[in-house]
Amino acid sequence: MLVDIKTNTELSDVAKLFYFGDCPDISLSADGESFSVNIDGKLTTHVYDDDCYNVIPLSHRIQRLSKIAVYDALRDYTGRNMPWGALTGVRPTKLFYECLREGFSKQDATTLMQKVYRISEARADVLNKIIQSQQGKIFFSDDYYNLYVHIPYCTTRCSYCSFVSLPIAKCMQQSYEYVKLLCDEIEQSMAFLAARGKKLLSVYIGGGTPTALDEKSLDALLSAINVSGVEYTCEAGRPDTVTKEKCDIMKSHGVTRVCVNPQTLNNETLVKIGRSHTVKQFYDAYECAKSCGFDINCDLIAGLEDEKPDDFIKSYNGIIQLAPHNITVHSLSKKNGSAIRYTDGENVGTTEMLNYVLANMGNYNPYYLYRQKRQACNLENIGLSLPDKECINNITTMEETVSVVACGAGAISKLVHDNKIVRHANVRDVGLYIKEYDDRLKAKHDCFSNVLDKCV
Ligand code: SF4
Repeated sequence: MLVDIKTNTELSDVAKLFYFGDCPDISLSADGESFSVNIDGKLTTHVYDDDCYNVIPLSHRIQRLSKIAVYDALRDYTGRNMPWGALTGVRPTKLFYECLREGFSKQDATTLMQKVYRISEARADVLNKIIQSQQGKIFFSDDYYNLYVHIPYCTTRCSYCSFVSLPIAKCMQQSYEYVKLLCDEIEQSMAFLAARGKKLLSVYIGGGTPTALDEKSLDALLSAINVSGVEYTCEAGRPDTVTKEKCDIMKSHGVTRVCVNPQTLNNETLVKIGRSHTVKQFYDAYECAKSCGFDINCDLIAGLEDEKPDDFIKSYNGIIQLAPHNITVHSLSKKNGSAIRYTDGENVGTTEMLNYVLANMGNYNPYYLYRQKRQACNLENIGLSLPDKECINNITTMEETVSVVACGAGAISKLVHDNKIVRHANVRDVGLYIKEYDDRLKAKHDCFSNVLDKCV
């Protein structure tokens, strides 16, 4: 059968690894383990009869070998290798776990990831380290869930932002109404899960910027969640929203982990990317959170506008010096919905930036990783942790090993049940979330009920 790859999302995703905009005409035909790829009239044939390909489950073999064939053909056609080879998915760790389930050792899995999927040695090695870090921390259970709460407000909008996020100064009144309904959604969702015997594993309040809420709203929100003794993260991503009073409120409600995110320690870049804070404000917020005894995560972005590898390395080393418990390094992604979505090209220095991170982790271990579409140089986002400070929520949510019950506008719940994952997305529009709250909450709980009450 002849396939024009433009008609096949998985295969055209492979082509997008090589071409940012227009790509040549590519078609593929398969005959058993032999694949022929035609790129603009140039035909190549690829045969995959080596035993190593048996690691791919039969149910996925044709599809994955087709992607590998298109990758191999484009690699030979362009003379370029990609860090993650033929992989286009969000979670490469899942394929590493698949090798382990087939009985391969971690070392053999590391080799297979390179041989079968064409990923680089450095990326295979980092996967091995991540699986090592996750041992004893990853949790496979239908009985637990992570609570995610979305706050759709920030001070300004970052140029790369694709999240549901509105300027808080213009939406103060709306935010009061939103938080009131959100508290109700949280209480009802938690009661719904508790009635079905589900236990809370961790809490993550993200957004947006939860600390963009005023003190009264933040206190009301955390009162509705009303838990203690679990890992409990509250993002305080914008340093200009962090105050001692808000830190005290978070502390008094059992928050254990706070994200204070500079993204870069370069004031000029902060202005270019539309953030409303300075490097000094980041350091002040960091000290404020530290003085309250939170575990702290700091996010950085590699590949920001006009930044050279040296700029990023300066920021990275600056954060390493502070020694937060976690550091998350994102490679810039030009996501749908962001202001930079239609800008051309990518920061080609991003590869050097991420390679620097992988080679200079100091006391940190990589502990989770994910990839996004349109990410600079086809790289990754990687979480680093000091020993025994890994965020369980990040691991279990990213590896999809426990359910996520998500509350708020645009929040996406994932129920992990009987080896299946059922998703439910809340409406993204904050106005509609408020207006249609009752009906939409009912629809969400009907969806949960369809999954959870069937086998009771
Ligand atoms: S801080 Fe995060 S949520 Fe807020 S505008 Fe920036 S990227 Fe978007």
